Amino acid sequence: MISEQALAPPRELVDKKGRVAGKLRISVTDRCNFACLFCMPDKESIRWLPKEDILSFEEIERVTRVLVSLGITKVRVTGGEPLLRKGVESLIARLTRIDGLESVDLTTNGWFLAEKARALKAAGLRGATVSLHSLREDRFAKISGLNALSRVLEGISEAVRVGIEPLKINSVAIRGYNDDEVLDLVEFARDRNISIRFIEFMPLDGLGIWSQDKIVTGQEILDIVASRFPLVSKGRSKGETASLWEFEDGKGKLGVITPMSAPFCDDCDRLRLTSDGKLLSCLFDTEYHDLKPIVRKGGSDTELANLITAAVWRKPDGVGYMPWIKEGWGKPRNMNAIGG
Ligand code: SAM
Ligand code: SF4
Repeated sequence: MISEQALAPPRELVDKKGRVAGKLRISVTDRCNFACLFCMPDKESIRWLPKEDILSFEEIERVTRVLVSLGITKVRVTGGEPLLRKGVESLIARLTRIDGLESVDLTTNGWFLAEKARALKAAGLRGATVSLHSLREDRFAKISGLNALSRVLEGISEAVRVGIEPLKINSVAIRGYNDDEVLDLVEFARDRNISIRFIEFMPLDGLGIWSQDKIVTGQEILDIVASRFPLVSKGRSKGETASLWEFEDGKGKLGVITPMSAPFCDDCDRLRLTSDGKLLSCLFDTEYHDLKPIVRKGGSDTELANLITAAVWRKPDGVGYMPWIKEGWGKPRNMNAIGG
């Protein structure tokens, strides 16, 4: 018979399937100045988290230090829109000083990037991923809820200029909305010698427009791109979400992220911290692991570490093992509240 002790979670970021977490996505706000139709609920029904529930920079730094002591080596700052959070560059500077943390990257909608790029770079930011779902002004506005294309393009140029590296573009292709722009987006990225990654549309949208037939799969993207540009497969590294491809002429890189058609749950190594201090071990986790009571009520780092390791131990198998998600799912939260 196995003793209770033998079943207790070990003090590292390992789950019951043996996956070890090494990456952390920190959502610093659920708020956003855009309202992308695959992410946010409609403007009338949106309820932002109360300000007092949002972790301060000190609190985020403390939780991150504990997570790094347990094995996290890479952090990505996200949101909502992370650059909406006042002084976010000072958080990035704090995080980059944590011993054992190898890199801090950012995912942004690009609206504030032109004005913030230099300060972000000075704060120690490594790379940034800018979301760009259309190159047509009217369509960009329709998808993102704001007439922002030219400003986002300026942000991309400025980030390249100040040397934020790697700079990548993320696109969500949705059938009937922007799937006719795959080649234009690829050409845009190739012209600037930057990577572009297409993410399959996931059922975490607030408007409820998601349906299986709107997913443009990674394979469809590859077929479209290969019809114009010969591609060379570089495979998917363990723990990475993107399967990578290079262009035969060496200009730029292509990635496809396929959580819906070919999930990569078996070697998933990421954790997520929401802006109100909840740890999620999977995008599709329905359990909340609230760290804030320990952080705010004088709990010790050991208590934090115990809650974190216990939460990670219970990490769900992943979306690849949840076929019901594609059949209509009472999702617990929208993408803007998780951080993508
Ligand atoms: N506001 C920033 C941005 O848009 O890049 C960061 C947060 S956003 C939630 C992170 C990423 O998730 C973005 O690249 C966005 O395009 C992607 N995303 C949002 N909703 C999605 C969905 N339902 N399916 C797939 N990707 C989604
Ligand atoms: Fe905002 Fe990013 Fe969500 Fe768009 S995808 S609404 S920019 S958080």
